[in-house]
Amino acid sequence: MLRVQNVTKIFGNRTAVDQINFRIDGPAFVGIIGRSGAGKSTVLRMMNRLTDASSGAIEVDGQNILALQGAQRREWQSQCAMIFQQFNLVPRLDVASNVLHGLLNRRSTLTTFFNLWPRSDILRALEILDRLGIAEQAPKRAEALSGGQQQRVAIARALMQDPKIILADEPIASLDPMNAQVVMDTLKRINTEDGRMVIANLHTLDTARRYCDRVIGMRDGRIVFDGVPSQLSTGV
Ligand code: ADP
Ligand code: ADP
Repeated sequence: MLRVQNVTKIFGNRTAVDQINFRIDGPAFVGIIGRSGAGKSTVLRMMNRLTDASSGAIEVDGQNILALQGAQRREWQSQCAMIFQQFNLVPRLDVASNVLHGLLNRRSTLTTFFNLWPRSDILRALEILDRLGIAEQAPKRAEALSGGQQQRVAIARALMQDPKIILADEPIASLDPMNAQVVMDTLKRINTEDGRMVIANLHTLDTARRYCDRVIGMRDGRIVFDGVPSQLSTGV
């Protein structure tokens, strides 16, 4: 379903990602691990088209998503929603509106600018918040929530897009262990219950072992491990 072929990213004279190849079939939960600077974020950002690759192809259902332009590129970005370490919510905006922002690309400027969301969108946002256990937070400002709750709001915003793939860039790196577990459990549910592929950059082996079906280890822009977590030794 998703095939990364010889993908390379060069910044100036630094090769951040060096000719990587992997294939993911079906709705797996894949962890990418490696030290800071290994190239993990760059891989996710190229998949989501936030960063352009220097060379290579990423095929999804037979289409090279690295070649998509304009509206097609935006449509692809809706299909692979991204979650960030720092949540990237609008802090002073209420939680429900933050979740509705998942539809920014799909509704008219008039709707989004004047906050005139259709009732069906609002109901769906509330349903998703309810599913993630934070419905009662809907009217609060995002900044009033705990980190774990904010990350669940970010996941709810991603789910508004009904994405095939969720890309999570260090989703628990700013959270305490308890909140980290809630967020990882939430991502796991979305993977198993909805059948969405999840690719998460993680910095601890323990988390990867616990949640991932497969782990890709990176070092200096290259893949140095690709397999099931039980085969994983330390030293990536
Ligand atoms: P990781 O996510 O594993 O920490 P990154 O993908 O963020 O790694 O970075 C990989 C390498 O690419 C690092 O050396 C980083 O400094 C470099 N890099 C990342 N983004 C940029 C950028 N926008 N400009 C220049 N170098 C970058
Ligand atoms: P992380 O390691 O969590 O991925 P970084 O601190 O490496 O985050 O990068 C944060 C931001 O800075 C990213 O947008 C990345 O593209 C950019 N960046 C990283 N390294 C460099 C660099 N050497 N030169 C310019 N931008 C960079």
